[in-house]
Order: sequence, then C-alpha cells, then structure tokens
Amino acid sequence: MTPDRRSPAAGPRPERRTPAPALPGLAELLTPAAELYLYLHRHPELSGAERRTAGRFADWLTVDGYRVLRDVGGHGVAAELRNGDGPAVLLRAELDALPVAEDTGVPYASTLTAPGPDGDTVPVMHACGHDAHLACVAAAARWLAARRDLWRGTLLVVGQPAEETLSGARAMLEDGLYGRITPPDDVLAQHTAPFPAGMVAHADGPVLAGSVTLKVVVEGDGGHAATPHLTADPLLAAAGVVTRLASVAAREADPAERLVVTASSLRTQNAGHTGNVIAARAELHITARAFTEAALDRAVAAVRRVVHAEASAAALPPRATVTTIMRSGVTLPDPELAAAVRDAHRAHFGAGRVTGWPGSTATEDFPLLTGAGAGLHGHPHIRGTYWMLGSTGPAQWSAAPGANAAEKLRTLPANHSPRYLPSVRLTLQSGTSALVTAALARLGKGADQCRPER
Ligand SMILES: [Zn+2]
Ligand SMILES: [Zn+2]
Repeated sequence: MTPDRRSPAAGPRPERRTPAPALPGLAELLTPAAELYLYLHRHPELSGAERRTAGRFADWLTVDGYRVLRDVGGHGVAAELRNGDGPAVLLRAELDALPVAEDTGVPYASTLTAPGPDGDTVPVMHACGHDAHLACVAAAARWLAARRDLWRGTLLVVGQPAEETLSGARAMLEDGLYGRITPPDDVLAQHTAPFPAGMVAHADGPVLAGSVTLKVVVEGDGGHAATPHLTADPLLAAAGVVTRLASVAAREADPAERLVVTASSLRTQNAGHTGNVIAARAELHITARAFTEAALDRAVAAVRRVVHAEASAAALPPRATVTTIMRSGVTLPDPELAAAVRDAHRAHFGAGRVTGWPGSTATEDFPLLTGAGAGLHGHPHIRGTYWMLGSTGPAQWSAAPGANAAEKLRTLPANHSPRYLPSVRLTLQSGTSALVTAALARLGKGADQCRPER
C-alpha cells in the first residue's frame, strides 16, 4: 500500500521530543528484531514468491512456542499461542516486496533481482516497509510469549503473502485460514508512513480507501495510417477515454469524497508499434479510489459510460469492453476497538506521540480478514483496526526541506519510492510497542501491565 502525502493532523516535531518510551524488556528484543529486519530488507521477495521470507518468519515464531502453519494460501504463515480463556487477537503483517530498484545508499540496501510478471528480470526492494511490519510483529509475538503472566486468551499471528497484488488475504482465507487457527475476535495491523518515527497515527473514519482496477479493451480491425477514414481507430477512442476520465472526479464527485480516477496505462497491440499502421487494439488500465463503496460503484459506472460514449462517438466505432480485474474494500476500523487501541497507545506513548490520520487513498486487502470478508470466512463479527506507524528518523526529518510538517511530508521519500528509508531502531521500537499495547488492551489482565520504562 502507498500512503499519500497528506499530513498527520498534529504537526509532529520529533527533534524536540524526549526518547520514545520503551516496553520493559524490549531493549533486549530489539537487536534480534533488527537483525531480522536487516535480513528481510536485504532479501526482498515479490508478491507470491515470498518463500524465504515466510520461512524466516515461521522459524522465529516456532522458537517462541507458537503452533505454526506454513504455506497457507501460497507462502502464508499462520501461528497460534493459547494462554487460557479469553478473546482471540490476531496480529497481521505482510511478506511481500515490490519491483523497485533501491536507491537509499544504505549498506543493507537490496541489490536483488527476480523474474518479473512478463518473464523479464526486475529489481526487488522492500519499498513499502513490510519488512519493518514483519520484524515488529515478530518482536511483539516474542514479547507476549515471554510475558504470558500478563494476559489471557489466544494470540494469533499472520504473515500474509501478496498484499501488493491484493490477492494474499483472499488466498489464505480460501485455503481455510480461519478453520485451521482459532477464528479471531479482533484483527490488528499497522503500516509505516514517512512521518516521524516514534509516533503513531489513528484515523477517526477510514484509514485507507477502497479501490477498483478496471481493464478497458478497445478493438478495431487495424488499417493504414494514410487512410484513417476507412478504419475504426481504437487509439483515438482510448485517448478520448483518458482525457474524459479526468473530468469524473472533478465534475461528478463531491470534493469531500476525495474520489480518485486514474488511467494508469495505455498500450496498443497488433501492429501498434509503427508510424504507418493504425493499431487493431488498445488496452487501458484504470484505477478508482474512494472512501465509500457507493462512491466506488459510481466511479465504475462513470468509467463504463465514458468508454462506451467515446467508442460510439466515432463514425466507424471500435468495439469496447470494460472488465473489473481487482477490487479492495475500504479499511474502516471498528470504532470501539479503534478507540480502545488509541487509548492504549496514548497511555503508553503519551498523547503527544499519538496523532490523527486523515485517511489515505492507498488501499489494502486487510478488510477481508475482518467481518468485511465474511463472505470468504463466515465470521461477520470479527472486528479490525489499523493504524499508521511513523518511520522517519530525527536526522532525516530535520534534513528534509520544508518549514513545517506538511511541507516536509511532501518532500520525504514515501512508501514505494526507491529512496523510502525507515529508521530501523526507532521504527521497530515504536512499532513493537504499538502492537503489544494494542494486543494487551484486549488480552491484558489490568491497565498497568505494560508501563513504559523511561
Ligand atoms: Zn505497498
Ligand atoms: Zn504496504
């Protein structure tokens, strides 16, 4: 997922703050967690190919006494630790990396390549921070396994493959995830973003948008570029679609909806590579993002309307089809669970380190693991919450151009950038603490069990 550049609400200034509070006993855990992070960062694997990543994660959890399942829905890892009666809480992290060439300049930068989807060779980088998510969940799982005196219930851990392709959660559920581990009552997850490390951010409403990806195919019969009046022209119709779609968000959606409609690729095929031939086929990919399912439905209807209108406007109309190839739900935390976790974070980090989150037009398949995915797993009452985790270290934050937090956030390399660079120790410390305190908010025996060491 890619957080956008909207600013967390409170204008963070990390350089003025004291060191982040730490969970008791966490300091000893951070060294192995950082080693795991550095290994994962150096050895990223693309969506669906996370064999080595999953193996490392599963081995870690096995050491801590979890019952570990491997190869769930591809390379998915699921683990369970029972500790008496109580709720079941699931911590979820993602296994996959991206086809991005790392340009951070750090000694642990990835130099790996892998076979790409088209049979080519592509660079691979943990540009979305999933390596940090895994290391934080691993450390939280170890902390909670060692401190079973502090909580009761069932702790579940999932390392999900193929999040970037929005297919891994579905694959794990279709492989019977919630029949093979105790079905959770609550699912918790976090995602890094380039606001200051040591902070977390919670949304009042949706954290992430829902999305639809559409494929549009426009077909004619091909012809000579010198006689365009004799040939239906798919490229001209497709170009009309691209420009007309730019008006959908601008003229059909309430500005408060923050609808995004982007034509993100346009390819011609069948002799579409030379100057004297009119291509027989044009293919577009279009992505829509919105914070309600109704707005997404309207965006899809608008794309269909525009495509068919542009195709039929020509004297020799090409044929046009619109197919939905991917859809993800809005990540909307359960209000009661989100409030409990936010309170736990405020108690641990201090209110100044817990900021607001305005919602990002990035997307996730996380909602499928909650009641929103009941069609896949049959448990409509599973609650979920999701918060954002700051990842920019103080030195990088100070060096970023900009007079205030909003300006800095526009210039700092964000997730999916080849220069996205989480601060290792601060991100792992706060991310692990955020997970542990959130889990204890549901599983803990009392309010004081995880007072920070100052
Ligand atoms: Zn991502
Ligand atoms: Zn991500």
